[in-house]
Amino acid sequence: MTHHHLDERVITAESEYYNATLVRRVDQTNDLAYFWVKFDGDPVPFEPGQYMTIGVFADGKLIQRPYSVASAPLDAGGEGYEFYIRLVPIQRFTTLLWRLPAGHRMRMIGPKGKFLLEPDDDRTHLFVSTGTGIAPFISMMRHLRAAGRPRRTVVLHGCSYVDELGYRDLLEGWERDGGYPVRYVPTISRPGEPRNAGWTGRTGRVETVVGSVCEDLALRPESTVVYICGNPEMIVRVEQVLADRGFPEFHVKKELYWPKGKQVPVPAG
Ligand SMILES: Cc1cc2nc3c(=O)[nH]c(=O)nc-3n(C[C@H](O)[C@H](O)[C@H](O)COP(=O)(O)OP(=O)(O)OC[C@H]3O[C@@H](n4cnc5c(N)ncnc54)[C@H](O)[C@@H]3O)c2cc1C
Repeated sequence: MTHHHLDERVITAESEYYNATLVRRVDQTNDLAYFWVKFDGDPVPFEPGQYMTIGVFADGKLIQRPYSVASAPLDAGGEGYEFYIRLVPIQRFTTLLWRLPAGHRMRMIGPKGKFLLEPDDDRTHLFVSTGTGIAPFISMMRHLRAAGRPRRTVVLHGCSYVDELGYRDLLEGWERDGGYPVRYVPTISRPGEPRNAGWTGRTGRVETVVGSVCEDLALRPESTVVYICGNPEMIVRVEQVLADRGFPEFHVKKELYWPKGKQVPVPAG
């Protein structure tokens, strides 16, 4: 499988199109990391749930991709815009990003996107995601918490492995100390793997778990708004489960990270 170390494209260090800097990076696993990118000048305002597009020039071409912001808007000016990103093992953008040291220059544009909170929405918020799709929900909760207007929330987050549960400490901390009225429901889809030894929480993909979560937590269609983010196949399946439970379509919002049916191509050879 192609690995970022094998990506030999030459990344341009300085360009007149660069307007931001990768200020910090924290690795979670070999292929998941948090990145902070800061504008040279003032931060551009955004709404929680929106995304920015970041990129660099490689072999003379600008390679850029959209990423949901995980920061609260108020924090993006100070520490930069926080992103939670998975390394995809094909030589496109992420194999370049993984090669960038902190301090490297980048291009960032945005914000864009309509995956937004409704104003003054007192329904229970059910946030469903897999992998890095949790990012916009972190921005939303951080924002509402900072604004002193938290909303009753259930976070259903699915990953293959326990060590991939991004923002677990933050969410467990909020749940424990009441820092945010959140019920955190992580689920692991490959419980039999040695990497998941000792896991005693829920198991199975989010689409197989979401029905029982609604049941257990008494989430009713008339008093719940659902946001789903990440893998398009997962989104379709979760939507179906919710439709079968009587959730009207307009109570469900979604953000697809790639077009349906597009899996990572397996490199030849
Ligand atoms: C609105 C929006 C917001 C996004 N936000 C994020 C984010 O916060 N974090 C993030 O990691 N990605 C996010 N993405 C996906 C991101 O833009 C890139 O597609 C991804 O980082 C892979 O880039 P690439 O150039 O290596 O491959 P691409 O050519 O862009 O994608 C190749 C294939 O990689 C797979 N893929 C893409 N993204 C992921 C992923 N996140 N996890 C697993 N497989 C994936 C898909 O099968 C896709 O067809 C977002 C996409 C959109 C449209």
